[in-house]
Amino acid sequence: MRRPTESVVDGSKASSPVHPKDLPSVDRLLRQPAVTALLAEHGHTRVASEARGLLDGLRTQALAGSLPAEAVAHDVLAEALARRVGQRLAPRMRAVLNLTGTVIHTNLGRALLADSALQHLLAMMASPNNLEYSLDSGGRGDRDSIVEELLCTLTGAQAATVVNNNAAAVLLTIAAMARGREVIVSRGELVEIGGAFRMPDVMSSAGATLVEVGTTNRTHPHDYERAITERTALLMKVHTSNYAVQGFTTAVDEAELAGIARARGVPLATDLGSGSLVDLAQWGLPREPLPQEKLAAGCDIVTFSGDKLLGGPQAGLIVGSREAVGRIRKFPMKRALRMSKLPLAALEATLMLYLRPERLTQDLPTLRLLTRPADAIRALAHTLLSEVASAVAPRFEVAVLDLMGQIGSGSLPVEKLPSAGLAIAPLQKKGAGRALDELATALRGLPLPVIGRVADDRLLLDLRCLEDSAPFLSQLPDLRQALR
Ligand SMILES: *Cc1c(COP(=O)(O)O)cnc(C)c1O
Repeated sequence: MRRPTESVVDGSKASSPVHPKDLPSVDRLLRQPAVTALLAEHGHTRVASEARGLLDGLRTQALAGSLPAEAVAHDVLAEALARRVGQRLAPRMRAVLNLTGTVIHTNLGRALLADSALQHLLAMMASPNNLEYSLDSGGRGDRDSIVEELLCTLTGAQAATVVNNNAAAVLLTIAAMARGREVIVSRGELVEIGGAFRMPDVMSSAGATLVEVGTTNRTHPHDYERAITERTALLMKVHTSNYAVQGFTTAVDEAELAGIARARGVPLATDLGSGSLVDLAQWGLPREPLPQEKLAAGCDIVTFSGDKLLGGPQAGLIVGSREAVGRIRKFPMKRALRMSKLPLAALEATLMLYLRPERLTQDLPTLRLLTRPADAIRALAHTLLSEVASAVAPRFEVAVLDLMGQIGSGSLPVEKLPSAGLAIAPLQKKGAGRALDELATALRGLPLPVIGRVADDRLLLDLRCLEDSAPFLSQLPDLRQALR
């Protein structure tokens, strides 16, 4: 059924809807003078393909009798085509502003790389390099050797190897040490890390049998001792990084467990999850266990992530005794989980920064952001207040607010980071929820999308991770426009 349609141009009734046969052909559309520049910039293949898609869509509308004549004017068509080509060629992976208050945000790509890591990465990728080539002998080299010495220096380990991520490090460790045999883990440590990575499932994927000991809240040394048999290949500790068991709890620490392990001739591995190479308590931050402590306590293997508190690229770091790391490195699965040269270059440069620990809070973005004082963040909020307020007026009001942020990525979930930011609230109580959705959508729709969080009927922009406010301020006119 045909109905008179509203013109997109001026809201008046359109003369009559366009008939499918009145649509131009792809060739004719491409011959429009207005399309010449588009063809010159992006080439015939892409532009023709988008022109086909555009005309197909218009034909469907025309068949339904709902295509106004204005929509097929030459300049309107050329503009629609340019928009389609632009959208198709726009990267799907985009930079965003993380104003969520969570510094190491898994959904937003975790740690930011340090400048030196970015530079090293760029230089190494633009040229052949000695990834697996020994410049001493002129023969084949080992990619592990690029970071092994650094990791040993920083953690006190005898040996080190690296894989794609920490999940891979755990999988590989269990497979190499315990395939076809048993691994003993406390019931209080059978964690799910997210993304379907659950300890019991990892065990079976690695071909090992999980032996659970103790209870959710309490596990004692004799629980481990009783469970060890000739089938036992590994004792495993898992840092319960993304939750806390509080109250009537007890766990066996690595030092005590190492004694049991050694007496029975069974190796001990610890998965630290985040792991930090420096003690965060020196900056007043909550303490995370250090790999070097766990090795000193007697662990044979410690695994941790590259892109959590370490502040580097995605990577799984495996440090430990020469014998255990040697077994892991020789295990065939290692080849499938090996690290690519891209993160390896970034990891090397990141680890280098730890050789100058005095400068870490300047040079390493993760630590720089985590140690940013709440006072400085609050002061920044005050400088942005009036401009943001005028961009969201008259529907919203803005206030500077003390906030509690998080480190993120599963570390220290119960600890909060005192921070500050802007709270944007709808002035009208009625329809406040929809107004907040609209605001959040408008912020995400900016050229550099701004990601905040909604709490207590306000949209909160935690400014801890806003180091340069210029890109944020320069988008406020776009925000004002979007909220019209
Ligand atoms: C994050 C985490 C992992 C997984 O590390 P990825 O580098 O993300 O693969 C494994 N174990 C624990 C305890 C973790 O917190």
